[in-house]
Amino acid sequence: MRRQSLGATPESIRKMPEPATSSSRPRVLSGMRPTGKLHLGNYMGALANWVKLQDEYECYFFIADLHALTTDYADTSMLASNTLEVALDFLAAGLDPARCTIFLQSKVKPHYELPLLLGMMTPLGWLERVPTYKEQQENLSTKDLTTYGFLGYPLLMASDILLYQPQFVPVGQDQQAHVEFTREAARRFNQFYKLGDVEVLPEPKILLTPSPKLPGTDGRKMSKSYGNTILLTDPEPVVRQKLKTMVTDPARIRRTDPGDPDKCPVGDLHKVFSSAETLANVYEGCRSAGIGCIQCKGWAADALVQILEPIQARRAGFSEAQVIEILEDGSNRARVRAEQTMREVHCAMHMTLIAATGTGKASE
Ligand code: SF4
Repeated sequence: MRRQSLGATPESIRKMPEPATSSSRPRVLSGMRPTGKLHLGNYMGALANWVKLQDEYECYFFIADLHALTTDYADTSMLASNTLEVALDFLAAGLDPARCTIFLQSKVKPHYELPLLLGMMTPLGWLERVPTYKEQQENLSTKDLTTYGFLGYPLLMASDILLYQPQFVPVGQDQQAHVEFTREAARRFNQFYKLGDVEVLPEPKILLTPSPKLPGTDGRKMSKSYGNTILLTDPEPVVRQKLKTMVTDPARIRRTDPGDPDKCPVGDLHKVFSSAETLANVYEGCRSAGIGCIQCKGWAADALVQILEPIQARRAGFSEAQVIEILEDGSNRARVRAEQTMREVHCAMHMTLIAATGTGKASE
């Protein structure tokens, strides 16, 4: 019986054709958990930047459903529908499957494999010292997070990145530590294993992307867990209603009290979404008590509706079947890239029969 070849030599790997998705542009990768419908905070903090990156970089964007399991393993009933909602919001925001690869993490098997291999060489202390490990255990105290999966989450994240050998990872200021961990994991691997003189898992660089301060309706950072979001799918009346309930500068108790947009969450929304002219009117009217908060919130709602309208129109143009097809196609493309990296990883780790025999021929 003919045995399958279990691997490849460094020489044969170097001769392998680049995956079909390869391009001469620098590669970037980023992902998002399937939390259901996305909100303006997700849009401004990541999606809007991703859309801009599509033409300049070879982009891989994924829905991190395996990440969701690290905290929400006990109830996966919403996982599929949340994944579809996020994919729809990716497309609605302007990600174009013809210009970037959009994929589902769990459909690309190397995402299960590389964390295990990296786990063999990662000191336990590295994982225990990740600040979010203790923080999240305290914040999500209703969930049992004393699990192997949750402890190993940083390795899952590092593998997600390293599988694509990207030059850059686009992140906001507060996520830089994640990329630093990934760089450390790559360094550790490269210390032990090499493919000739080539580093198999190059350390990606941080591509710092602007992520403006975006408050939710209660003034805290917009976040699904605070229940203070404005969704990308919220219809105009809902947006206006949510704005009406938004907290303002506490110094403006009466209509005649002057306020300060720099101390008001509505002012923060204006700074992100309103025109320079409207913003000037907000500053002038608020500080002189020339306008009331209801009027000011109406202007903010106008600006938000303008941002959301094209997003919602694009969303309406996709059927569920199309979204599934886009994810399947993207996952196939991502798999080609990730499997290429895994071949190199296996070869560098001498996990191939060919490397063991040293014949350079496929073993029969
Ligand atoms: S006028 Fe506008 S910026 Fe000033 S406190 Fe009211 S909502 Fe905030």
